[in-house]
Amino acid sequence: MAKVVLVLYPDPVTGYPPEYARDSIPVLQGYPGGQSLPSPSSIDFTPGELVGCVSGALGLRKFLEEGGHQLVVTSDKDGPDSEFERELPDADIVISQPFWPAYLTAERIAKAPKLKLAITAGIGSDHVDLDAAISRGITVAEETYSNSISVAEHAVMQILALVRNFVPSHQWAAEGGWNIADCVAHAYDVEGLDVGVMAAGRIGQAVLRRMAPFDVNLHYTDTRRLPAELEQELNVTFHPDVASLVRAVDVVSIHAPLHPQTYHLFDEKLLATMRRGSYIVNTARAEICVRDAIVAALESGQLAGYAGDVWYPQPPPADHPWRTMPHNAMTPHISGSTLSAQARYAAGTREILEDWFAGRPIREEYLIVDGGKLAGTGAASYTAGGGSSPGSGS
Ligand code: NDP
Repeated sequence: MAKVVLVLYPDPVTGYPPEYARDSIPVLQGYPGGQSLPSPSSIDFTPGELVGCVSGALGLRKFLEEGGHQLVVTSDKDGPDSEFERELPDADIVISQPFWPAYLTAERIAKAPKLKLAITAGIGSDHVDLDAAISRGITVAEETYSNSISVAEHAVMQILALVRNFVPSHQWAAEGGWNIADCVAHAYDVEGLDVGVMAAGRIGQAVLRRMAPFDVNLHYTDTRRLPAELEQELNVTFHPDVASLVRAVDVVSIHAPLHPQTYHLFDEKLLATMRRGSYIVNTARAEICVRDAIVAALESGQLAGYAGDVWYPQPPPADHPWRTMPHNAMTPHISGSTLSAQARYAAGTREILEDWFAGRPIREEYLIVDGGKLAGTGAASYTAGGGSSPGSGS
């Protein structure tokens, strides 16, 4: 029997369960590209319920407890006195979400001799020290595709919000004003702009597809060029590197994983090569950008806006400058945790656990690290031996 430590974000301050705005969520048939939806034997929650917070427990409580496993659910994850660190020494399985990451550093892994499986409920396992997981033989898995479209929708929303100056305009209305000149002095149409994605994987491609109907000029860079037919279908221009991309666009949306090649890629030097008044949307990982370089570029007007939902650390301190820098449309890390997305990654987590307990192989597309090496999706997305440990940046 296993001890499972589940680290989730706190319940709503307004209480749990919340009053739901809708009665159901759509039933999808599959993911773009043909990957099938999570397929656990059953689930113990109604899709559309808030399961990503502590009381929701990813809908796993009944399944785990009836299976004789010990389940600990907590949101107390940071610092040596946290419940997470106290529970780690005899934990067999840790489950955490990128939105409220339980940073599994090399030091913490060393304190967890029984740990065999680290599941990311969602996508993006950079909060786990993958090198340490590899050398300890820990399996790392996530639910590939579970929230890719959720994130793409958020990125498109934030591109529109920045260019059209939505947030300050809404603020004027909410505060009783009708200050049209104040609102529109920073507002433009998206039509006709050059819009690029830094990485055209699952999310980047979905952003390209969703931006195309806005009659923008599309651009991308990626380590691997898309098939010629797809480039033609999307009418998208390829750039061999990020330096070439950012010089050619007005808007860049970042969709690469955080690894040594992308860590602090958007620094003062790169930002200075962008067109004056460019916009950046970053729903990938905060540390792809240098925190204070972004603030300085907004203050100088080199950037006209910055938005995204990823921060470092998470949660960020109350005085994190991205909360208050000019022309930002930041949200907490929410894009991949809509009620719709939660239903998929909770079911995917259950599927991984069912396979693990039954001794069956975990789906290749869910694997990040397995058998002492990068595996499955992880082998395509991450780099071993790069020292990109969680908590390494600003
Ligand atoms: P994919 O693996 O489908 O796509 C990532 C793409 O980035 C791949 O095509 C990869 O190329 C490319 N890439 C990697 N390194 C570089 C580089 N140095 N320069 C250019 N391209 C590069 O990932 P997803 O689209 O599913 O997700 C992207 C990221 O989004 C995740 O890693 C995660 O950090 C973040 N995310 C955020 C969420 C949120 O809630 N905000 C939720 C889900 C994900 P190659 O295959 O050759 O390595």
